[in-house]
Amino acid sequence: MKGYHGKILKIDLSYGSSTPIDLKEEWAKAYIGGVGLAAKLLFDQITPDLDPFSPENYLAYLTGPFTGTRVPSGSRFAIAGLSPNGVWGESTSGGHFGVALKRAGFDGVLITGKAEKPVYIWVHDGEAEIKDATHLWGKDCYETQEIIKKDLGEKGVRVSCIGLAGENLVKYACVINDAGRAAGRCGFGAVMGSKNLKAVAAHGDAKVEIADEEKFDEAYNTTMRTNQANPFFHLLGKYGTLGYLDMGFLLGDVPYKYFTGTVFPAENVSPTTLMERYPVKGYACFGCPIGCGKRVRYNKKGIDEVDTPEYETIVALGPLCGNLDLDELIYANHLCNAYGMDTISAGVSIAFSMYLFEKGVISERDAGMRLEWGDGERISNLIKMIAKREGFGDVLAEGVRAIAAKFRVNEEEVAEVKGLEVPMHDARAFFGQGLGYATSPRGACHNRPDWFVVELGTGIQELDISPGERFNMQGRVSSFVKYQNFREVYNSLLLCMFIQSTPREVLDLFNSITGWNLSMEEFVRAGERMFNLKRVINNLRGITRKDDKLPRIVTASLNEGPTAGKSLGLEAMLREYYEFRGWDWESGKPTAQKLNELGLGDVAEKIS
Ligand code: SF4
Repeated sequence: MKGYHGKILKIDLSYGSSTPIDLKEEWAKAYIGGVGLAAKLLFDQITPDLDPFSPENYLAYLTGPFTGTRVPSGSRFAIAGLSPNGVWGESTSGGHFGVALKRAGFDGVLITGKAEKPVYIWVHDGEAEIKDATHLWGKDCYETQEIIKKDLGEKGVRVSCIGLAGENLVKYACVINDAGRAAGRCGFGAVMGSKNLKAVAAHGDAKVEIADEEKFDEAYNTTMRTNQANPFFHLLGKYGTLGYLDMGFLLGDVPYKYFTGTVFPAENVSPTTLMERYPVKGYACFGCPIGCGKRVRYNKKGIDEVDTPEYETIVALGPLCGNLDLDELIYANHLCNAYGMDTISAGVSIAFSMYLFEKGVISERDAGMRLEWGDGERISNLIKMIAKREGFGDVLAEGVRAIAAKFRVNEEEVAEVKGLEVPMHDARAFFGQGLGYATSPRGACHNRPDWFVVELGTGIQELDISPGERFNMQGRVSSFVKYQNFREVYNSLLLCMFIQSTPREVLDLFNSITGWNLSMEEFVRAGERMFNLKRVINNLRGITRKDDKLPRIVTASLNEGPTAGKSLGLEAMLREYYEFRGWDWESGKPTAQKLNELGLGDVAEKIS
């Protein structure tokens, strides 16, 4: 196979063994790579009662056919499997780690078991070693990466690791690579912690072969021209994802004080304010012409230079908590990176506690402190307490669902779907985004799909996906489903969501690399197949239609702001959605007919 090594390594930490598995061509064609392939490879391992923190759980680190090639922004990697929320989880990250893993000679590694003491996995030159990590336990993510590189002493080693949050099984602990890049969502840092796995390090020289270099060059040049002509490409390059904040604020898309408003002095945390106050420099993931990564000269709290918070982070730890202190926000982001913690879930958990404190549900005695809105220093301290599971931090470390259970809060006030905290695009600003939160396999997710981007004008003509009235999805749910399927393909190619290549260009790149001749229909169909397979995994884990929900706290109409008076009704959208998906309205399962159509007849039996 071109574009793939055709080899995945299974590593069992309980036995200290590693076994190569052949990647079948038919699987690569049907599931592409990354998260789609992870679902295929792990399907049989995820049983209805598997404990996410048990040694039997698996964690997949996977690359895709673009990883390590010149495909612009096409070299991310995925971490996937059963998340601590008990449902399907997936997370991708950029940087250079994915390329290092592929150059080590594998399309990915599947990790299971539990080591007796802390270890890290060293994948290189077609083999893997399990190495002692006792000296790394307790180290932060930045230190861990540096120590491992020094220990291994080879140039070009890349490390993906956990910090204290993962070691302490914080439900939303993330996995950090290449300084501050994160596989942020779904708590895989905690899964690694449960296995005593501190890190995966990778390096090698294995080349990724391309089937047709001439066609590849042609496709590459075409897609570069498309990207250069797109204004989003340049906006992201200049400001990073934070560049969206001003526009999002004007649209009522930026939630404030735990989703109870969208009006606040946004200029305090805007990208222009940040750039006026701090010297900023950019950096890019492997092969990325955009370079949305930003670092600032901080020169405070003993930190010289530090990663700039992304849009999601600035909002989750900022306005969502009533916090507009840019200095503290940058510091809070740094702490989350150092401890290895998802900034979205951390921010929503802290904001929820502030909301409950204001309502008198959580007392000063419960928390051991006052939880006032907007106290930036307190937020940073809470992040430290969460990572260390100290005091009230131990409560926050379990996420909003557990906080609600502890304080007996009605589920309509709990901003989560399938256990995953709601991210920073207000569902009242883009009703289709709300549908995405309700139906994404991993729970409330702003990327699977990023429907708000479509509504902002980025339609996909060739797939008949057009922007429309953002407060009305009537008659457009079929377009939404197509977009959701196509984003599955992106995730499996490990293509960054921010690249503006057209589907035709992406398919041309794929076919020139693999030498296959997939049609657009087959390509999008692969996305639909992966989506349904993940749904079946979730069904096996007990997910039904009632879990495709949106709590009232994120749907009820607001009194002021650009979305005032707009309230999102999910059921009508969901009915249309189920119809287009071919899912049964009563059980929430894909019908046997749909699964057969997708070549998933063998899994249909498991949920019948
Ligand atoms: S746009 Fe940003 S996240 Fe995406 S590949 Fe480029 S640098 Fe990485």
